[in-house]
Amino acid sequence: MGIRLQEGNDQICWSLDGERDFSVAGTRRNIDAFLHTGSDMGTLWCNAVPKKVNVFAWRVMLDQLPTRYNLSCRGMEIKSILCPTCGVGMETLSHALFASCFAKEVWRNIYRWCNISMLIGESFCEWSEWCDLLPTRNNRRLKMQVIGLATCWMIWRFRNSVLFDAGRMRKSDIVHNIILLSFSWLAHRNKKCKVSWVD
Ligand SMILES: [Zn+2]
Repeated sequence: MGIRLQEGNDQICWSLDGERDFSVAGTRRNIDAFLHTGSDMGTLWCNAVPKKVNVFAWRVMLDQLPTRYNLSCRGMEIKSILCPTCGVGMETLSHALFASCFAKEVWRNIYRWCNISMLIGESFCEWSEWCDLLPTRNNRRLKMQVIGLATCWMIWRFRNSVLFDAGRMRKSDIVHNIILLSFSWLAHRNKKCKVSWVD
């Protein structure tokens, strides 16, 4: 193969996606296109939420959170696989974040706050796919992605508080905290997104 040398200064260019300049979004598209071909789930990285929440979301999408059911499937001996929040259902990921009475009540309140009249689903992937269909106008899509992430994050934190912190987090504060957290992430972590309490 012949090498053609050109006049000019040396420069570094990114050759993976033909864009020449490196970008996280381009790399993500590349990973989705070539490494996740067997999965219909793309990667999700939302700049408007903290890194730890993105990592949390990734674990949710892969069903890798240490729910009691998942721990028992991995051979860990645990006293009960019942949900620590309600004590009724088996604590699978879907139960913990969406299907338990507690999670449903939280989501109902979030739906009401966001004026959503339909049931979107009982998994994070369904929520995420629904968000992907929303218009980007007025950052509607981003806002709903952030609100969904804040909701899952707070429900999981509440569950951990019940298990490891003697339930110090109050159930009645959860929805209020989700609203505060969503507003704070959108207002302070994303310069392009203008939010006000009216939104
Ligand atoms: Zn439960």
